[in-house]
Amino acid sequence: MFEGALSDEERLLRDTVREFAARELAPGAAERDDQERYDRRLFAALAQLGLTGAPFAESIGGGGLSYRAWTLVMEELGAVDMAMAVSLSVHVLAQSPLARWGTAEQHERWLAPMLRGERMGAFALTEPEAGSDAAAIRLHATRLGPADTPRGYRLEGTKIWISNAPEADHYLVFATLDPAAGPAAISAFLVAKGTPGFVFGRKERKLGIRANPASELIFRGVEVPTAQRLGREGEGYRIALSSLGEGRISIAAACTGLARAALEAAARYCAERRAFGGPLTAQQGVRFMLAEMSQRVAAARALTRAAAEAKDRGEPIAEASSLAKWTASDAAMSVASDAVQLFGAAGYSRENPVERYLRDAKGAQIYEGTNQVHRLIVAEQLLRGLGLGG
Ligand SMILES: Cc1cc2nc3c(=O)[nH]c(=O)nc-3n(C[C@H](O)[C@H](O)[C@H](O)COP(=O)(O)OP(=O)(O)OC[C@H]3O[C@@H](n4cnc5c(N)ncnc54)[C@H](O)[C@@H]3O)c2cc1C
Repeated sequence: MFEGALSDEERLLRDTVREFAARELAPGAAERDDQERYDRRLFAALAQLGLTGAPFAESIGGGGLSYRAWTLVMEELGAVDMAMAVSLSVHVLAQSPLARWGTAEQHERWLAPMLRGERMGAFALTEPEAGSDAAAIRLHATRLGPADTPRGYRLEGTKIWISNAPEADHYLVFATLDPAAGPAAISAFLVAKGTPGFVFGRKERKLGIRANPASELIFRGVEVPTAQRLGREGEGYRIALSSLGEGRISIAAACTGLARAALEAAARYCAERRAFGGPLTAQQGVRFMLAEMSQRVAAARALTRAAAEAKDRGEPIAEASSLAKWTASDAAMSVASDAVQLFGAAGYSRENPVERYLRDAKGAQIYEGTNQVHRLIVAEQLLRGLGLGG
């Protein structure tokens, strides 16, 4: 299978994570999915391998990994356990804004233990009335004390579909000072699990990545000091958007891994399964399907690495990360669906992993921006680039 060139160092990283995933994640992945159970020990194992803070600068306590190298990590995790890959991706997504916008004090208190994997992060943007239209959030932040120098804020409202909750310890929460004022009124806050008034509501019952929890967050008069505001008042929307590109590259890489795993499983099955006097792989119709699946995996990986390399060069990544996430999640969905087809009835059985790949792939077309939203982003960039408006 075409994988593209890797340096010796990258090959070593890939092989190390591949071996870790086979040893630690693969054995219980189906059972955890079945039981909808998150195993916190696995997060600790990821931390021990240095992955919980890997794509952050060494100067702030991260692992110093390039984003290109990070895609190798995520591809290997996604190939074995998409639920754990998403959990780690969200943990990194919760840290990126802190790394970029946090004060030295916030780095020490909030970021450092997350980089080390002692605390798990969550990114809380979505609300019952605000998904794709994230600027419409209503979770209300009221200033406490004087308007120009507030001593803190009181948070009131609800978030839904927050991955890693209720397991996570640190929540990056986006709230508005004025629900009628749009993006300009949004601010970001750091909230620790256990803060009075901050409780977990309904656990989402999901189609896929069932071993990664997602939950409703309820804020009933939660008071946070100003020291827990990330960035300035009104910078929250920019802060939220600033890290989504990186998160999309990360998910694209995990989807590439999932698609690769589905393809490999299907190819092995078809080589063993006999029909019409030989293995299924002797049938040209089957070979064409495998080739097309392979094409989609290679395209997903190529776009994902191109987006990661753009990020490593410090270039804008809005378009590249949207193209990568949209392409890779669609590839994961269609390759997993074809894998189920090639397994026949065995693919429809919960005894084989391909039905889990199919369920796990679907969510990736929805979270980190739906693939319709990515079409909007790509079209905007295209038209702007051609000088035809935005
Ligand atoms: C497994 C999972 C994990 C998640 N984890 C998190 C998390 O950790 N943190 C978090 O904040 N959120 C999380 N989410 C929420 C996710 O970000 C939202 O579901 C997503 O942004 C879409 O919002 P929505 O569900 O409200 O759909 P809506 O925005 O209501 O969209 C419904 C449909 O309309 C389409 N649509 C909307 N607007 C347009 C448009 N302008 N043009 C064309 N089509 C449009 C959408 O593409 C979609 O198909 C998660 C979701 C899932 C499924």
